[in-house]
Amino acid sequence: MAEANIDHGTVHPAETVPYPADAPRSAALFDRAAQVTPGGVNSPVRAFRAVGGTPRFMVSGTGPYLTDADGREYVDLVCSWGPMILGHSHPEVLAAVQAAVGRGTSFGTPGQGEVELAEEIVARVAPVEQVRLVSSGTEATMSAIRLARGFTGRSKVVKFAGCYHGHVDALLAAAGSGVATFALPDTPGVTGAQAGDTLVLPYNDLEAVRAAFAAHPGEIACVITEASPGNMGVVPPKDGFNAGLKELCAADGALFVSDEVMTGFRTSRAGWFGVDGVVPDLMTFGKVMGGGFPAAAFGGRAEVMAHLAPAGPVYQAGTLSGNPVATAAGLAQLRLLDEAAYQKVDAASERIRSLVTEALSKEGVAHRVQSASNMFSVFFTERPVRDFADAKSQEGFRFTAFFHSMLAQGVYLPPSAFESWFVSTAHDDRAVERVAAALPAAARAAAEATG
Ligand code: PLP
Repeated sequence: MAEANIDHGTVHPAETVPYPADAPRSAALFDRAAQVTPGGVNSPVRAFRAVGGTPRFMVSGTGPYLTDADGREYVDLVCSWGPMILGHSHPEVLAAVQAAVGRGTSFGTPGQGEVELAEEIVARVAPVEQVRLVSSGTEATMSAIRLARGFTGRSKVVKFAGCYHGHVDALLAAAGSGVATFALPDTPGVTGAQAGDTLVLPYNDLEAVRAAFAAHPGEIACVITEASPGNMGVVPPKDGFNAGLKELCAADGALFVSDEVMTGFRTSRAGWFGVDGVVPDLMTFGKVMGGGFPAAAFGGRAEVMAHLAPAGPVYQAGTLSGNPVATAAGLAQLRLLDEAAYQKVDAASERIRSLVTEALSKEGVAHRVQSASNMFSVFFTERPVRDFADAKSQEGFRFTAFFHSMLAQGVYLPPSAFESWFVSTAHDDRAVERVAAALPAAARAAAEATG
C-alpha cells in the first residue's frame, strides 16, 4: 500500500475536539481477548495497566500514523517499540516482503537472504565478524549469555538494574520495561538456581563493577548492558562507562556483551557502537533489523562465535531462524537506512523533544527530556536520571495524565513512563505539527495531575 493512496484527513482532532474517552470497538476486542489470553495481551506493556484505560487495538499503519478499531488515527511515537524506523507500510519494504512471500514462506534450509542480511550486519558494525540469526531479542541475549558462559567456562553474569534484555530467566532480575512498569521485584517461575549466578548492579556505576570483579575474580563470564538503556526511560551511559566496562572485562578475562536490540541500526548506521566506538566481544540485535518481522541476531568476534554449534560445542538453534520473509523485510529496511535517513529521524526527534520541553516548561511542570541519539523519553522530575533509582523517583502520575491527553488528541505514546519514544523517517512536518498541537493541553493535564 503506497502512502500516496491514503487520505489522512486534513483536520487534527486537537484543533477541534478530542476523541471520546471510550473506545467501544477496542473495548469489545479487549473483552474477547481477556477470555482467551492472559490479561488480554501477548506482551504485558500493551495492556495499559500502568496508565489505565482500554488499550487501542490497531488495524493499520501508514507512514507515521496508526488507525485503531474505532477508526481513529494517531501519530505513532512508539513505532512498534522501535522497529518501524521507516514508518509503517513502507512501499519498498512491503514490496520485498511480497516478493519473498511469493517464493514461499519457510524452507528450513539455508537461504540467500540470510547470507545477505548477515553480510549487511557485518559490513555495518565493525566488531561483528560473524553473526547468528534468531527470531527475537530475547533469544539473542539468551544465546549470547550461553555462548559467553560456554566460551569462558564461567557461570556468573553481571547485569544492571533497569536494563531489560528480554524475558531470559537469568536476566529477569531488576529488569526495566514491563518488569519496571509493574514493579515486579522478582518473577515467580524463575528459580534461585536460574537467577543465582546473576549479579545486579546499579547502572552507570563503574565502582560497583570493579567491586564485583574484585569479589568474584575469574568467576564472571560476562557483563551485559544495554548499549544505551531505553527500558527505564532513556538513560544514556556516562562518558567512559561503556569503555570502563570493556576494560574491566578484558582485565579479568570476562566478555563484554553489548545489547543493541533497541539501539542497533537506530541510533546510527552502526547503532550505539557507531556513537561511542567501544568494541564489545558480543553484541545482540533485533527490532530495526527485522523490518517489523521476527528477526534478531547475536554476533561478535569470530573466535568467540566459533564456539557455537555446529562449528563448536555451544548449542543454539531455531526452526524459523533466518526465515526468508523476515530476512527480506530486514534487509530491505537496512538497505534504505543511509545517512540521509538517520538525519531525518534525528531531526524529527529533536523537533519533538524541543516541543515537549517548551510545552511542559510553559506549564511549570518539572521534567527532563533525556535522549540518546534519536531515542528519547520524558521524566517527570527535575533531577538528572542516571540510573533506575532516579527513574523510579519521578512523578509517574503526571505521565499518566499527559499520556491520556495525548491519546485523546490522536498521539500514541508508549503506555508507560519507563519506555523510550521512537520516531521514523516518515515523521514529517505534518505529523510533528499534530504532536505540537496536542502538547499544550497534555502539559496542562500533567501540571494539574495529583498523585
Ligand atoms: N534487549 C533489549 C535492549 C530490548 O529492548 C528488548 C525488547 O524490548 C529485548 C532485548 C528483547 O527483545 P524481544 O522483545 O524481541 O524479545
